[in-house]
This record gives sequence, structure tokens and C-alpha cells, in this order.
Amino acid sequence: MTPRMSQSNQHISDLLPAYINSRLDAANTARIRAHLERCQECRHELSAWEAVSGAAHLASASMPLPSPTLMSQVWEKIDAQQKAASQQKSIKRAAFHLWLVFTRQIPLIHKSIWIVRHCRIHGIHASNASQVRPVSHTDS
Ligand SMILES: [Zn+2]
Repeated sequence: MTPRMSQSNQHISDLLPAYINSRLDAANTARIRAHLERCQECRHELSAWEAVSGAAHLASASMPLPSPTLMSQVWEKIDAQQKAASQQKSIKRAAFHLWLVFTRQIPLIHKSIWIVRHCRIHGIHASNASQVRPVSHTDS
């Protein structure tokens, strides 16, 4: 039994991804801000989206590899899912899935940066060593 009144107090979780990407017009942005002030549920959801967006931003800022492409693909997927199934459950699931994807990606990104640095240092060493003496594979 859901009262019809709740329709006038619609949640704006559908619009949160667009809101974070500032892809909404001023009117919708104002509407969402007003709703967020009143609705704790949507604020909670917004913080989840911000975490995802922040992780993505961090990744693309600190990484020379093509992660912005990945990010735009991700947002496209979100958009597509919203249009296909306008059920909040599936969007929440998508957000949760994305969150898992990004938290898994961040260690990988750090690792790849480490590898790049390591290779540069190692590269200098290798060219120095080859001038002095041939590289022999003696370990231990
Ligand atoms: Zn709400």
C-alpha cells in the first residue's frame, strides 16, 4: 500500500549520475539540490556516486593509460541502463557493480605506475651495465 502522495516527492536517484557529471540544465540541478536537502536517502546515494566519480577522476588524473575512455564507456552504460530499465534497483546494482570495478582498478593502476617507474630506473642501469660488461645472468 503506497500512498499516491509519494509521487509528488519523487526520488531523483535516476538523475544523480548526470548531476555529478554536471550534464543537467540549471532547472534540474536546482530541483535536485532542493530534493537532496530534504531527502537523506538520495543524499546517501549521491555520496556513493561521488565516490565512484572521485575514484574515476583520481584514476584518469594519475594514469597515462587510456582510462578516460573506460570512464565514458561506464557512463554510457549507466545512461543505457537507465533508459532500458527505469527501476531504481537495477541502477543501484549498477552503481554497486561500478564501485567494485573501481575499487579493484585502483590497486592495478598503482601497480602499473610502479612498473613504469621501475622500468625507467632499470632501463638506465641496463644501458650503463652493457657499456662496462656484458650482462650475465647470475642470480643469488
Ligand atoms: Zn529522494
